[in-house]
Amino acid sequence: MALLEIITPSNPTLRKKAKRVSDFSNKKLQQLIDDMVFTMHEAVGVGLAAPQVDVGQRLIVIQLPDDEESREEYGDDAGVLFVVLNPEIVKASKEMVEGVEACLSLPGYFGKVNRHQQVLVKGFDRHGNPIRIKAKDWLARVFQHEIDHLDGVLFIDHATEIWRSRDVEPIAEIEEAEDEPATEPDVE
Ligand code: ZN
Repeated sequence: MALLEIITPSNPTLRKKAKRVSDFSNKKLQQLIDDMVFTMHEAVGVGLAAPQVDVGQRLIVIQLPDDEESREEYGDDAGVLFVVLNPEIVKASKEMVEGVEACLSLPGYFGKVNRHQQVLVKGFDRHGNPIRIKAKDWLARVFQHEIDHLDGVLFIDHATEIWRSRDVEPIAEIEEAEDEPATEPDVE
């Protein structure tokens, strides 16, 4: 398995709409999935979308941590690996919840984002079988964040407040972000 480079907004792929996956039996696709899971683990992230590794395809991987604290917080969602191709949110709760997000493509940045508390996601597994995932709370948030990536949308586009760690250089695109002291969120 290979460690893939995670791109930042200086690479235009991050802002492009990704294309639907059509050939599920493609060996390169299967390799890409394995490499994305490996890269997500190495980067200690909870989700990764293909555009973040410079691949314009509709593919996301998600896995919440599996330690004792996470199991308490996420219940059955802790530690489950989700690999979803062509994911689509087909239903979303009216209820919105605010939470603090970060992104592997925007290292050092944090933002408060309102997300649907629950979403129903339809898509395909890595072999092309249709799947449906009912996600709530933090898992629902991660699905919304990752699916946004497939349309070139970053959390900073939705955030009601953005801040960055003191030691992070401003990224041109989000230079107006407020320079507040770093407060590390518990999750993500
Ligand atoms: Zn992200």
